[in-house]
Amino acid sequence: MQELREHVTALAADIGERNVWRYRELRRSVDYLEAVFLGAGYSPARQTYDVSRLPVSNIEVTLRGAAKPDEIILLGAHYDTVGGSPGANDNGTGVAALLELARRFSGRAQPRTIRFVAFVNEEPPFFQTPQMGSVVYATAAKERGDRIVGMLSLETMGYFSDESGSQQYPVEEMAALFPAVGNFIGFVSNQESRELLVDAARAFRERATLPVQAAAMPAGLPGAGWSDHWSFWQAGYPALMVTDTAPWRYPWYHTADDTPDKIDFAKLVEVVDGLEHVVGSLAG
Ligand SMILES: [Zn+2]
Repeated sequence: MQELREHVTALAADIGERNVWRYRELRRSVDYLEAVFLGAGYSPARQTYDVSRLPVSNIEVTLRGAAKPDEIILLGAHYDTVGGSPGANDNGTGVAALLELARRFSGRAQPRTIRFVAFVNEEPPFFQTPQMGSVVYATAAKERGDRIVGMLSLETMGYFSDESGSQQYPVEEMAALFPAVGNFIGFVSNQESRELLVDAARAFRERATLPVQAAAMPAGLPGAGWSDHWSFWQAGYPALMVTDTAPWRYPWYHTADDTPDKIDFAKLVEVVDGLEHVVGSLAG
């Protein structure tokens, strides 16, 4: 828990808002990510491109597979924030989980390759445009012929509530199918990624006590494609999002009050423990 708290605090409290308009903070975030990856024994690589002449970077580390190195499981989380928000939950929690999972797998080669990628420019106005970090990444991966057999987008995953009515949904039909209490973690995929979704949810339930709700959605459903997994869908890769559902639960989504005190670190540990088992299972 201490590691997760440290990462969220470093990003959301020490650095704060981080995007191309807070460029110094964006660069400090890169320095932080690279230092943590280096400290965990990895050699971070930058994928850099320009946005209005400002260089921005995705940061990547790779744990090469021992038996099937050409088959890749990819974990991703965006490290930028929306304007005006320190981004503790969105997406300090996703990045903290990414860093912690990389640390836990360090030196433990699995049969398949695992890539850990911190994406830039997920938030508007870059969202779902050619300048979105994960679009740049997934497009290049497809051009290289990378065999990404499963992508997990870690997105806003640290807020939980036991209060009735704490969970909202984008469409009324979903309220009849899913809980009204926001005490679960959500796995969201498109129809084409259903097999990955089923495998991941099964592995999560084997390990974690935290409830998981898994749903393969029409890609056009509001919220279903609202993170970096969308970019991998466009490139034809199976991908899902791991999330507390963000705007459908978190009262401080995209506000100046998205601060570390809102995060349930005990539950975030449960999410990371479950994901460690998911990644081990998918990479096996
Ligand atoms: Zn986000």
